[in-house]
Amino acid sequence: MVYLTHLKKFTQDLFDHPELGFKEFRTSKKVIDELKVLNPTCQIERFSETGIKTCLNPGKELNIAFIAELDSVYAPSHFNSDKETGAAQNCGHYTQVAIAMALYQKLIMNEDYKKWDYTLHFIFVPAEEYLDLDYRQQLVDEGKIVHFGGKPEAMRLGIFDNIDAAYCVHSIGEKFSEPTIELNCNLAGFLYKYYTFKGKATHAGFDPFNGVNAYSMSTLFNTGIGLSRQQFNDTQSIRINPIIMKSDMSTNVIPNEVTIGTDLRCQSIDYMTHVAEKLDKIAQGSAYALEGQVDITTQMGYLPFVQNDLLNDLARTVYEQTPAITRLIDDRGSIAAAGDIGDLAFMIPCAQISYGGFAGTIHGDDFQLVDEDFVLDTFPNYLLNLFNHLNGNLSKEMLYKKTYHEYKALIESI
Ligand SMILES: [Zn+2]
Repeated sequence: MVYLTHLKKFTQDLFDHPELGFKEFRTSKKVIDELKVLNPTCQIERFSETGIKTCLNPGKELNIAFIAELDSVYAPSHFNSDKETGAAQNCGHYTQVAIAMALYQKLIMNEDYKKWDYTLHFIFVPAEEYLDLDYRQQLVDEGKIVHFGGKPEAMRLGIFDNIDAAYCVHSIGEKFSEPTIELNCNLAGFLYKYYTFKGKATHAGFDPFNGVNAYSMSTLFNTGIGLSRQQFNDTQSIRINPIIMKSDMSTNVIPNEVTIGTDLRCQSIDYMTHVAEKLDKIAQGSAYALEGQVDITTQMGYLPFVQNDLLNDLARTVYEQTPAITRLIDDRGSIAAAGDIGDLAFMIPCAQISYGGFAGTIHGDDFQLVDEDFVLDTFPNYLLNLFNHLNGNLSKEMLYKKTYHEYKALIESI
């Protein structure tokens, strides 16, 4: 109970100090300080500057990870945003960090882990949210990172090479009247496309006849996307959000260059490739029809996340033995949100357990934790029981494993 009081303050402090991805320096330091207070002999490995990996019960053949995300969202209008950076905790990642600390503290106190047949790694990963891309591109240009997402970057660095399976947790963006968790919700994957339409600038009054209007091409492209939506398979949760990213337009000049950016979200890689090709054709057709050109660039985002049935079954069994959590949302199907856990799940089996206890709109201006006792105590107790239950019920033979190189080959093929 004494620790819970401390943990509530720790959690509030994280809520008050949000940091964007690959910039979570304060959060990272705070986590390391806390780990060292709870367990002065803990070994800490650091990666990507802010990422942290530490384990309990080292040296076992089977290695399981519990993952917490360190970053927050860019949302300057959130009521508790950082006024300088615009960062805000409106995806609830800070509570993942707090839950990890609660679980760690409980394990250090009861020493249950000493009986386990596996090693449990706590991995605090930077930069889950796909944003602040100019800064990340700068890190790429400086050779500091290769991937924009924290988990693919950690995969590249070999942080998950010795891990056989992983559980992560995430807030649910709905308000519930009873203690609620969710299992088996798949996520979409996404990629990002840039279409730069190129025309020819001329005087809009004197000589529009010889101009080639890049803005008109982009309008035709947007119309083409709208009309093609009818053809998108609706089981695939296709989401496309074209925006004007760059233009240099003036009142009396035929626009000669407009860049449209759009995400493409989808539930499977095969269908994502199919729709990406379709978008390219619409762009090329729009440019061709109006006698201009288009340059196309593709940036991979995150892979679709397919949850692991075995890990979910184990989590469901423990839910059934946990009267303090009264509601389970099980397999609501796929949602069109995405996360870099999809990339990690390509390499090793992963399950994401989501938890209620929040009010307001996720990624909105009013999102906040309201049920501290559930999120910081009841839910970590459930996780403690889950990790006890894994003992004797998982083995390497039951789990798949792929390499980072196989992941890289897949990403480069899209
Ligand atoms: Zn999130």
